[in-house]
Amino acid sequence: MDTPQVVKLAEGFHLRLAVDNIAWADLGDGAVVIDALEQPELKDEVFAAIRSTLGEKARVRYVLNTHTHYDHVALNEAFVREWGAEVLNFHTARLKADGRWLEGPKRRMRILPMPGCHTEEDCVAWFPSDKILFPGDIFGWGLIPLTRDLRDESALHLVETYRRLIDFGAGAVVPGHGPIARTADLTRWVEYFRGLIATAKAGVAAGRSDDELARDLAPPEDMRSWWRFLQWKHEDSAKKVLRAVRRGRLT
Ligand SMILES: [Zn+2]
Repeated sequence: MDTPQVVKLAEGFHLRLAVDNIAWADLGDGAVVIDALEQPELKDEVFAAIRSTLGEKARVRYVLNTHTHYDHVALNEAFVREWGAEVLNFHTARLKADGRWLEGPKRRMRILPMPGCHTEEDCVAWFPSDKILFPGDIFGWGLIPLTRDLRDESALHLVETYRRLIDFGAGAVVPGHGPIARTADLTRWVEYFRGLIATAKAGVAAGRSDDELARDLAPPEDMRSWWRFLQWKHEDSAKKVLRAVRRGRLT
């Protein structure tokens, strides 16, 4: 992950895979870029990768930001200057609940707002013919993506949104950060999240100490290889759930 890699997802559809991901897909009459990184100095490298994969005449028509955190928007202005690209995000595009299609002769992409999981402005991108889904930072390889409080309401909303993501039946799920996931990983995360809540609730009700609960909430075997999961993500998720249960926010 620390060495960026350009991966071909499909014909005319590429991903620069790194800690921060950026992808570009040829619609047939121009390309759409999904997310625009954190470091503006990557401009030349990214533009060269786009031209070497889509051809010297490549033109970027759209840049979608799945949300506008600083690590998803750094190259927006550069795309506007280079190609006159239209920047699409929750603020610029006024998306309706049923989203918006970007149509081209080669492929089409659906932008769907799914706010309230990571930020109030989350959008996902879906390519039906390639079966590729971009959930932005809603999926974080074990992270609870919420930037607002974890409580019954937000936990339910998160699980319901994951249900919608799973229903796409995507073959590849490209998160905002880290390796490519599968739909099965989305399903696994929901189970994991529910499992953490159930274990924390049962442990707190039984009067177990934080040390005992830390043992109850051990990282699951099959998720130990998830990206940065053992380094910090699992610990962070377990802590968030336990805190919410202790404060009576998850009932
Ligand atoms: Zn973010």
